[in-house]
Amino acid sequence: MPRLSLDDPVTAITGINTAYGGKLERVGVKTVRDLLLYFPRKHRDFGNVTPIAWVRPGMQTTVRARVYHIARQVTPRKHMQIARATVSDDSGQLNVVWFNQPYIASYLHEGDQIFLAGEVDLNGGLVMKNPEYEKVSSDPSHAARIVPIYPETKGLTSRWLRPKIRPLLWLAEQLDEVLPGEILARRGFMPRAAAVKQVHFPESMEALERARDRFEFEEIFLNQVAVQQAKRARQSHAADPIPFDEATARAFVAALPFKLTHAQRGAAWQILKDVARPQPMNRLLEGDVGSGKTVVAAMAIHHVARAGFQSMLLAPTEILARQHADVVDSLLRPFGIVVGMLLGSTPAAARRALLTSVADGSVNLLVGTHALIEEDVRFRHLALAVVDEQHRFGVGQRLSVRQGELWPHFLSMTATPIPRTLGLTLFGDLDISVLNEMPPGRLPVTTRLVPPDERQGAYDFIRQQVSAGRQVFVICPLIQESDKLGVRSATQEVQKLQRDVFPDLASRIALLHGRMKTAEKEEVMGKFQRGEVGILVSTSVVEVGIDIPNATVMMVEAAERFGLAQLHQFRGRVGRGVHESTCLLFTDMDDPETMRRLTALVTHHSGFDLAEIDLQLRGMGELHGFRQHGNEFKMASLLDVALISDGQGEAVRLLDRDPTLAGEPALRRQLSAYRRVFALD
Ligand code: ADP
Ligand code: MG
Repeated sequence: MPRLSLDDPVTAITGINTAYGGKLERVGVKTVRDLLLYFPRKHRDFGNVTPIAWVRPGMQTTVRARVYHIARQVTPRKHMQIARATVSDDSGQLNVVWFNQPYIASYLHEGDQIFLAGEVDLNGGLVMKNPEYEKVSSDPSHAARIVPIYPETKGLTSRWLRPKIRPLLWLAEQLDEVLPGEILARRGFMPRAAAVKQVHFPESMEALERARDRFEFEEIFLNQVAVQQAKRARQSHAADPIPFDEATARAFVAALPFKLTHAQRGAAWQILKDVARPQPMNRLLEGDVGSGKTVVAAMAIHHVARAGFQSMLLAPTEILARQHADVVDSLLRPFGIVVGMLLGSTPAAARRALLTSVADGSVNLLVGTHALIEEDVRFRHLALAVVDEQHRFGVGQRLSVRQGELWPHFLSMTATPIPRTLGLTLFGDLDISVLNEMPPGRLPVTTRLVPPDERQGAYDFIRQQVSAGRQVFVICPLIQESDKLGVRSATQEVQKLQRDVFPDLASRIALLHGRMKTAEKEEVMGKFQRGEVGILVSTSVVEVGIDIPNATVMMVEAAERFGLAQLHQFRGRVGRGVHESTCLLFTDMDDPETMRRLTALVTHHSGFDLAEIDLQLRGMGELHGFRQHGNEFKMASLLDVALISDGQGEAVRLLDRDPTLAGEPALRRQLSAYRRVFALD
């Protein structure tokens, strides 16, 4: 394919029709360049060619043999189509079977010299099951070498991809080197073109290792350059300094009905120091559900109001906005601070009046939803923006709260625990304060794994709680029954509970899911908040922030389908009042992996521990709330602290030496795409 160039669509490649073009597009591969950079997930080392007599059960290897006999068959009981062969070399004979691939019997013929690669079993004689196969040549792609295994999704098999990618490798020479030459030389990294070739079809395990090292570093380095640039850009902007005032701080603390925890004091101190600077703060306040983030934010809002400036507090839903407005108003009203609330549902006349008071500065704090960041909301002097559960909004919306030359100080709050390494990478432009301590007196939530045969007992327990006046959440993974997976849908669950399980309570069971209109959702949540609904059946929409102290049971169906951090969030919805609470995890699975994950929830009560465990067991793609970034790190492990700090160190050094990256045009080009994905511009 000599005429091909990197920017051609993949359909320009021989053997890729529009149907396959569509499949590739679904995994983000549109051009020849994309396909070259579509890396294997792992490799199998089939490099050793072993005489049949030397092959041992359990061995992963290649044999080179002649087809003695091959035929298509149907298995007697399951009626599965198979191809069965006997092959031999000078040293011995081997049986081969391919399940569900009967066509192999017409592709390979008696007398063919072939490579077979795979694992050998002992099953009344040596047998290879579903081996890779290829007619012998001097340059095989599927056997007798280290073989790439691609992410096998959406109908793209490794066997199909290998011969498409291999003839493209010469084009790797035309890819830009994005790492600065100085770093490449000093750290001895493999150049990009060579590394692309080695990562697809490695010459040796050592070469593969070096190629991977290079790409792992490249990913982290790109991320760190982008993050450090964003940080520098922010620090070059001005913000209103809010001077720290000890008397103001003391007065606020003295008026609280409780003593701040040590962690709350620490975080508040960091925030007050940040806002005292003439550059905008960009801080994340991270703390488990119930750790008391709102009070910390209120303390900063108090300071800002005392200094004569305004704040806004943005919440992801109307219910949460109302909750925040109530709480913050009760904390701040005694100081004469005026709190306004603006929601999508605020009537036009009230909205107009409110906006006037915001514009003339008589409202000190405006609490609300998305409605806050609409065009016509003008503050007299906004100095602080607080956003609760920012990842629920999407990154772009954060930017529209900047106004004019001065940037407001920015504080975001989240209950999603972010492991330290993630904090350095995806959130590297953020300073982080952690509330790693709970206010005293909170009852721990008892967590139980419920196997299928104990379901009735769990229902009895729920009935008893509801009869005693308590309330119950039931979480289901999907809205509609999909489903050979047997996933319970919230809709069907409601029917089942109303008809079969709790017919006497039917009128007090309600449904909540993400496809309902906002107003409907708010209405259902309102009824639950007021205690009119006893059992709320919901999809995962319910997870964040809502405070129902009377709810004592969190029951999760098909718990194995959720990430640990998300299950922990669910659990945080109960145990918020004076009654003892229980989290019931239902699962029909009993494989060791599921058991290990779910048991972690029974034994661990810290969201941070659970997030780390989740990251280790399932990778960061599953880390709740950050799935939108899930594909960015394909090679680098976010558990690799040394790698991340290396990448960060090099990024800082490079930007110190060449702040505009004038000397690195290829890196600059690569970053512009990267920055778009991360919304860093
Ligand atoms: P979250 O971090 O989940 O947003 P909240 O700010 O909603 O937590 O606080 C949860 C509850 O704990 C609130 O009722 C709040 O008044 C209470 N609270 C906060 N800090 C303390 C404290 N230091 N001591 C006792 N109760 C506290
Ligand atoms: Mg909160």
